[in-house]
Amino acid sequence: MEELWAPARGFLERLLAVRLRHPFLIRLCNADEFAKAYGKDPRVADGRRVIGFFQSIGDDYAIVVESGRSRENVLETLIHEFGHALVRTYGFTLSREESEGFSRWLEYRYLMVHGGDAQAGRLLDDPSVYGTGLRLMLERERSLGHRLTFRKLLRRESGSEDGPGAE
Ligand SMILES: [Zn+2]
Repeated sequence: MEELWAPARGFLERLLAVRLRHPFLIRLCNADEFAKAYGKDPRVADGRRVIGFFQSIGDDYAIVVESGRSRENVLETLIHEFGHALVRTYGFTLSREESEGFSRWLEYRYLMVHGGDAQAGRLLDDPSVYGTGLRLMLERERSLGHRLTFRKLLRRESGSEDGPGAE
């Protein structure tokens, strides 16, 4: 797992000019354990199958991923949940579209370099909140250009201060 995750994590931290302050565990669960840990039926969210989620227990963080998935599937899930972990640990309050969009944007940026245009394009075509959120983040990224940082991307107004948004 670590050999799958460490290079992706390095890529994301460089992309965002950020380092995750608090390390988290990666837990692989079978379907039954996953459903129990998730606390509800993982098949019902947006008609999709949930295969990973981010969990905080006190000061500890874990990304829980259903085992028995392909490496690509697991990696995309880890990248997505890493986005949620960042948002949580840095104290941003985001709309669902922003939050899912940000996590999707990380997957998208990773796939553009390490996957392929077809894989990345599939994310863009998603009509759900994941797809609209991704397109929102890409618009913000374009307006930021080379000044892209994690904080700037997640701030609604493109002012000059760094730091979490007020709302
Ligand atoms: Zn998500």
